[in-house]
Amino acid sequence: MKEKAMELLNIFYENGYEAYVVGGFVRNMILGLPSFDVDIATNATPKEIQEIFNVVKLPFEGYGSVHLTYKKVDFEITTYRMELEYQDKRKPSKIIYTNSLKIDLKRRDFTMNTLCMDKDGNVIDFLNATNDIRNKVIKVVGNTDTKIKQDALRILRAVRFATELGFELDKDLEEAIINNRESLKELSFYRKKEELNKILASVNALKGIELLRRFSLDKCLDIDLSGIVNKTSDPIGMWAQVNPSFEYQFTNNEKAYLEAILRVLEDGNINDMELYKEGNYVCYIACQILNMDETKIYDRYDALPIKNQSEININGKDIIDILNLEDKSLVKPILSDVEEKIVLRKLENKRDVLEKYVIANYS
Ligand code: ATP
Ligand code: MG
Repeated sequence: MKEKAMELLNIFYENGYEAYVVGGFVRNMILGLPSFDVDIATNATPKEIQEIFNVVKLPFEGYGSVHLTYKKVDFEITTYRMELEYQDKRKPSKIIYTNSLKIDLKRRDFTMNTLCMDKDGNVIDFLNATNDIRNKVIKVVGNTDTKIKQDALRILRAVRFATELGFELDKDLEEAIINNRESLKELSFYRKKEELNKILASVNALKGIELLRRFSLDKCLDIDLSGIVNKTSDPIGMWAQVNPSFEYQFTNNEKAYLEAILRVLEDGNINDMELYKEGNYVCYIACQILNMDETKIYDRYDALPIKNQSEININGKDIIDILNLEDKSLVKPILSDVEEKIVLRKLENKRDVLEKYVIANYS
């Protein structure tokens, strides 16, 4: 990735512009952590970037960044800018381009995110970020309270980075977070979900939960952290424990998992009927939430007498014939009863046994 990034930077210079890698990639490089994409800052405007790389699309929003996939690496390219006057706590109401990298760095959130890499692979550190990284501390660039007031998303980014990187927050930052936490309510649920999901998906998710609690951010985020939260291997299991407002938008898939986990949790244990109905993955996550031994779940699932209705050794048509049923609507409840008795091992899944049971109970 680094080589490809340097190649790309050189292309900017060949075309008469300057460009640096900034932000997460350089920070993670210093920390020996992987990155999934690379952020680039340049004095070229989106239009000028498009003249160099014909494939790029101009940003949808006037001052947005430009996306480029170069040799299979994703690059997010942003023109040097300064941001003035914030209104809705999220979008800067005025952006102007600048020709200076140093000025661009001042608008950034945390010192650790101002590290740059030049076209030759040298790390450039204008704001003593390396020292903060070494001390594992997250510090805001410029006036902490002002920066947090300008953009409430920075509160969540601070907690997210502290969680992911195992860093501490600078005292000023902690104070600014507490003083400005109400402004989180002005963020869109889309943004909140994005950041919260990264916190909940982290291996250190419990540190994130602890920070959210310490700063009393749960109410402002429309989640509830008053109960015990246990670590799960899937963020959806974490979401299931924090009671998110219905305004959080989950995909159909996430929603299905969330609801299934909550159904299993309702009675505080996991019986074989739940295992049969909701499947082993949902119950595996529920086990982690209930602090039960999740490794046993897969064996328990394998040992279930049946895995679905088609494995029952009697079917709807058989029941109609045996009972001479005229009212077909009775078939379904009878089958469900038989199914449950088999799963709970109260009935053997053998044709003659099932036939006898049906006759004895439903004739
Ligand atoms: P990640 O590892 O999540 O990509 P990142 O630091 O690269 O972390 P991005 O969201 O990719 O984060 O943003 C790239 C850079 O843009 C950041 O490093 C930071 O310098 C700047 N930035 C992003 N969001 C903000 C913000 N809300 N306020 C100020 N600067 C920001
Ligand atoms: Mg990034």
